[in-house]
Amino acid sequence: MKRAIVYHEDYNKYDLGTDHPLIGDKPKNTMSFLKEKSVLSEFQIFTPKKATEADLLKVHDPSYVEHVKKLSQTGGWLSEDTPAPKGIFEVASLATGGSMCAGEKLFEGYGVTVNPLGGFHHASKGHSSGFCFFNDIAITIEYLRQKHKLKRFMIIDLDVHHGNGTQDIYIDDKTVLNLSFHQDGRTLYPGTGRVETIGRDDAVGYTVNLPFPAGTGGASYLKAFEEIVPPITRQFKPDIILYQSGVDTHHADPLADLNLTYQTYYHLAKSVAGLSQETCRKLLVLLGGGYNSVACIKSYYNIFCGLLENDDFLEEEEIPDTDPEKVKHTVQQLKHYLSDYWSL
Ligand SMILES: [Zn+2]
Repeated sequence: MKRAIVYHEDYNKYDLGTDHPLIGDKPKNTMSFLKEKSVLSEFQIFTPKKATEADLLKVHDPSYVEHVKKLSQTGGWLSEDTPAPKGIFEVASLATGGSMCAGEKLFEGYGVTVNPLGGFHHASKGHSSGFCFFNDIAITIEYLRQKHKLKRFMIIDLDVHHGNGTQDIYIDDKTVLNLSFHQDGRTLYPGTGRVETIGRDDAVGYTVNLPFPAGTGGASYLKAFEEIVPPITRQFKPDIILYQSGVDTHHADPLADLNLTYQTYYHLAKSVAGLSQETCRKLLVLLGGGYNSVACIKSYYNIFCGLLENDDFLEEEEIPDTDPEKVKHTVQQLKHYLSDYWSL
């Protein structure tokens, strides 16, 4: 199978300041580590172009796009947690163009493609926060929907934060099955993603939220994944899978409180890649969040090992759940809410 990754030196300009948790040169460091570990050679590298304004407008309101453009000229703040440095409009457009380019490559003979600067799931149509400017996931979906006439999109969002922007955009759209695993919103930004939120109107059952209690470890996260994700994917039969593979679920991440380990990422990525092979053979990987500069690079590396089924992945000691009963209970609740829509 042919695989591709998109990368541009300017990705490293997605830098929200030295006091900000986001690590500006993470794309460069990720690429270096992948090269050092000899996995980058399994991927053909493409240089993306910026998304055009017409692309951004496939999802975002014109007034919002204008607002980001103006902020980018002067510098300022998009929201309390998201500074807008000068030039961010161009860099965020480039990140979006990267996801579109990686998406397009899936129609040029590549089975797995990666954008290391993608997965900005907190951006809604007309507002945003959480370090996100444009929702590259939704823009790529709308681009591919138009260009390749796709009918069923599956989002598997495993970032520790709930993908509230993506959910806002697709809550009433049953062509997009939006599945998010995240830390419970009662203990983490952005506060949304409750287990009972499962879609609206004729799209009920097409939004899936599994909020894990703080202190959930990798083993039970993986068990929940295997109970929920493969059966839904097989029943939905997607035309493409978009995998937001954020690693801010790692136990060393400074922003959140789940306790996944390096090996969890290997198993998750291997499983997602297997599901893509079984169904649509089109997997777009958007690396998403990760705020511990060392742990995130190693976690991303393990995702690549999983995608390649390369057994040379990193391992560390598992961390048991703080409250295993609560984890089991939440998984049971989700199965209950989805029981009219999916057989689980
Ligand atoms: Zn996150």
